[in-house]
Amino acid sequence: MTKPTTTNTGIPVESDNESLSAGAQGPILLHDHYLIEKLAQFNRERVPERIVHAKGAGAYGELVVTNDVSEYTKAKLFQPGARTESLVRFSTVAGEQGSPDTWRDPRGFAVKFYTEDGNYDLVGNNTPIFFIKDPIKFPDFIRSQKRLPGNGLRDHNMQWDFWTLRPETAHQVTWLMGDRGIPKTYRHMNGYGSHTYQWINAAGERFWVKYHFKTDQGIENLTQAEADRIAGADADYHRKDLWEAIERGDFPSWTLYVQVMPVAEAEGYRFNPFDLTKVWSHKDYPLIEVGKWTLNRNPGNYFVDIEQAAFEPSNVVPGIGFSPDKMLLGRVFAYADAHRYRIGTNYAQLPPNRARAAEVNSYSKEGAMRYDYNDASVPVYAPNSFGGPHADPERAGDSGIWDFDPTMVRAGYVQHAEDGDFTQAGTLVREVYDDEQRDRLVDNIVGHVLGGVREPVLSRVFEYWKNVDADLGKRVEEGVRAGLNGNGSTPPPAQG
Ligand code: NDP
Repeated sequence: MTKPTTTNTGIPVESDNESLSAGAQGPILLHDHYLIEKLAQFNRERVPERIVHAKGAGAYGELVVTNDVSEYTKAKLFQPGARTESLVRFSTVAGEQGSPDTWRDPRGFAVKFYTEDGNYDLVGNNTPIFFIKDPIKFPDFIRSQKRLPGNGLRDHNMQWDFWTLRPETAHQVTWLMGDRGIPKTYRHMNGYGSHTYQWINAAGERFWVKYHFKTDQGIENLTQAEADRIAGADADYHRKDLWEAIERGDFPSWTLYVQVMPVAEAEGYRFNPFDLTKVWSHKDYPLIEVGKWTLNRNPGNYFVDIEQAAFEPSNVVPGIGFSPDKMLLGRVFAYADAHRYRIGTNYAQLPPNRARAAEVNSYSKEGAMRYDYNDASVPVYAPNSFGGPHADPERAGDSGIWDFDPTMVRAGYVQHAEDGDFTQAGTLVREVYDDEQRDRLVDNIVGHVLGGVREPVLSRVFEYWKNVDADLGKRVEEGVRAGLNGNGSTPPPAQG
């Protein structure tokens, strides 16, 4: 006995097969609500595909830390023995949604870790380097690898035009044209964080790091001839391989390593350590093992879990930070912006993107498709007096700060001699307003405050105006108290 088909709101429908029409030969009718819902829903099944990395595959898994790297980072997910649920999306870069998996192209290697301190995203590739080193070149580079605007065709001339005009591409193009330019499967390739990041230990010491996921399946590649044949025979070759391996219990794994550079060594290093077109030589900075990362669960639904997965390098957790790597800093802006456009402002509520091991206490509210909301007594602004969340520097990281000139800080303006918050408001009251204007000011404030301001806010209002001008504050307090007593009302109890 199958379940009855219903509309999206649960109402049983009359037919899966025939539209309502005016007679058997007549026109179909607009009030066949289920037909309209079905056609309209179909027209809206797609979200815009990613501008880059449109074709991919993904799975869930787990990172288990096998070594002790706590001298370099306090990040909870990298502490000895930690186990953290994870999601990956592998992808090609230039091709569109239906493009063959075996085109010669770098492969995306985007990993999300659901940590106790919020989601940590490491959005890398299967190469430790990239074609360009400044984000201002990113749209130019990607356009040169995609399609000509006129005829809509891919164009090798355009690709080489850009590569040869921008010689910083040489390292990545050498890699791309080499044996590793077409991996045999997603399981048989390494992943790299590529960018230089910061690790920060419990004592506040900072280190530069690069991440390396080395495949435990061994590196295997396709020749150009093999890749061309498979591109015609099975465009989804890599997506299928990953799915089938996990279905049969052959869980692919990678060993995670890092290279660690003491901050003081960066300036004198023979390569600029923040330039994304360069690696740090293994001989100079050997790989340090961190843990084992295994994929063990296929997505429940490809669209929900993988197409809607949103990875963003801006997601760093305490113990991890950014670096002067300009490409990284550009991506810290661009990824979240792309998700807001592609899958909507509330994308962080979607199942693959929700924090799973951390509580979310943000002040975000409303917007299209919002279904998560706070209890109505929690204020929607900060600071507040009603128990809403407050930023806690003790728990937060310093992801955006590093020790280079100029020093970056989060600070207000340098205070000059007369820069108090109340100074110029007091001058306005005493030196510009005349007696009548001052009377109207008091009336306006008193009237506004009597509109519902309660303790403990009420006492702060009196203090606030006394700081602007002692006499004004006194008059405001007297006016408000007279108003409260005069109409016999008492302030209602505070919320929250
Ligand atoms: P090493 O000799 O220590 O490392 C050479 C690296 O090259 C190895 O990690 C190896 O990876 C990788 N490799 C082997 N074949 C290929 C290929 N066909 N395409 C791409 N990489 C390949 O030297 P250095 O660390 O001094 O680096 C020298 C060059 O090696 C760099 O210019 C860079 O192009 C490449 N490389 C460097 C990496 C780094 O982080 N230092 C990482 C990967 C490549 P594996 O051991 O996994 O087989």
